[in-house]
Amino acid sequence: MKNHVRVRYAPSPTGYPHVGNIRTALFNWLFARHHGGSFIVRIEDTDVARSVKGAVEAILDGLKWLGMDWDEGPGAGGSYGPYYQSQRLENYRTSAAKLVAQGDAYYCYCSTERLAEMRAEQARRKQPPGYDRRCRDLSQSEIVSCRLENKNPVVRFKFPTEGKTTFTDMVRGEVTFGNARIDDFVLMKSDGYPTYHLASVVDDHLMEISHVLRAEEWLSSAPRHLQLYRALGFTPPRFAHLPMLLGTDRSKLSKRHGAVSITEYKEKGYLPETMVNFLALLGWSLDDKTEIMSRRELIKNFSLERVSKTAAIFNREKLEWMNGVYIRKLSPEDFIKRAMPFLEEGLPREVPLSDDYVRRIMPLIQERTRTLAEIPGLTDFFFAKQLEYGTELLVGKKMDREAAGWALSMAMERLELLASFDEEQLEAVLRPLAVELGLKTGQLFGTLRVAVTGRTVAPPLFQTMAVLGKERCLSRIREALAQLRQM
Ligand code: GLU
Repeated sequence: MKNHVRVRYAPSPTGYPHVGNIRTALFNWLFARHHGGSFIVRIEDTDVARSVKGAVEAILDGLKWLGMDWDEGPGAGGSYGPYYQSQRLENYRTSAAKLVAQGDAYYCYCSTERLAEMRAEQARRKQPPGYDRRCRDLSQSEIVSCRLENKNPVVRFKFPTEGKTTFTDMVRGEVTFGNARIDDFVLMKSDGYPTYHLASVVDDHLMEISHVLRAEEWLSSAPRHLQLYRALGFTPPRFAHLPMLLGTDRSKLSKRHGAVSITEYKEKGYLPETMVNFLALLGWSLDDKTEIMSRRELIKNFSLERVSKTAAIFNREKLEWMNGVYIRKLSPEDFIKRAMPFLEEGLPREVPLSDDYVRRIMPLIQERTRTLAEIPGLTDFFFAKQLEYGTELLVGKKMDREAAGWALSMAMERLELLASFDEEQLEAVLRPLAVELGLKTGQLFGTLRVAVTGRTVAPPLFQTMAVLGKERCLSRIREALAQLRQM
């Protein structure tokens, strides 16, 4: 009896973990944590040719970054190991041998050339592709001569040629496949490694997996697996196929939609809490309105009943919005801590990052930050030795060069007199100055903003000037005046 919930995330290390793949991991993790069950990580590394160096590390780092801890698997141990399929080959060979012995599988000696020809012929005749079962019923003498020609046969499963395979998917309900459409797929490859189908069935059984939650693309594998479970005399787990992920244009999710590996989201400055919340909503919802949910709330509420059958849309703008929400929720201290690596990486090296200065800058941008990677770009003018901007930016709407120059000289005169360069004092001096100069506050402040920050959009002006400090502001205004004169 499989009373205890045991689920697995079974990545193939053939590349860096894509968001869709991590969504699968997350649903498994949430399901396990919700039921007080076990979350197992199993590395499906039987496709030697497609294995990518460093992929396992990237996958595990991604899980760690997102706070998805695993109870069994690489680095965590567990009594069902090893958790790398490449270290479990004996199990698959034993099962394949058993299937051959009992007549449920057979050796196939067909050469790659013959299979290619067969496929081409099927395509020409507009027949569905699939193995034509030539080796399924070979006589003993045929086997002897085949063996001489091909010493490394594959093992194929004798899939039933008629009838139906039906099962109840926990997301999709009753699903039925006609057996005639499924061919005798390979169980063991000629290199002695199992295929995904055999390895995953054997391991899900041996690891006592209770529920298989995986992407919809595997739905058509389910009848193959169920027939394998039957032939091997194993009780199958329950299946739940998670809805497909699409881009906002409803095409299959790809890089074009901003869906990249989880590592890249980390590098781009998305918070792990954002990613967990966002990915949880790709195919699952609490109701039709709640968007922001903590990890604890997700665990408490997660259920397969609320996983949708229809495809989920990956909306990059929503992800950015959500990251902004989570960034605003951070304490100022925490925000600084998370921003620091991005500042160190993204600002020119010659700039010293004094703690105190950074501490004063960061609250000015927390509200408007959407990704941590934007921070150097939002704050670089605080650190720059020399600002670079087009002089014409100093001349605001309905102003000319003289008006801008006059405004800056007057502002400089007033600012020089200030004993304390704080927000209130700055406002108390600069607002009346606009009136005095016959300018709209927007005109004066716009010119000043460009002079002290080098840009037209920046954090609130008085706070920014206060943080920049008197000396820096005055020298930048002086610099702006010089630029105006040369215009
Ligand atoms: N190794 C497969 C993958 O990477 C696992 C599929 C499954 O969960 O059964 O998608």
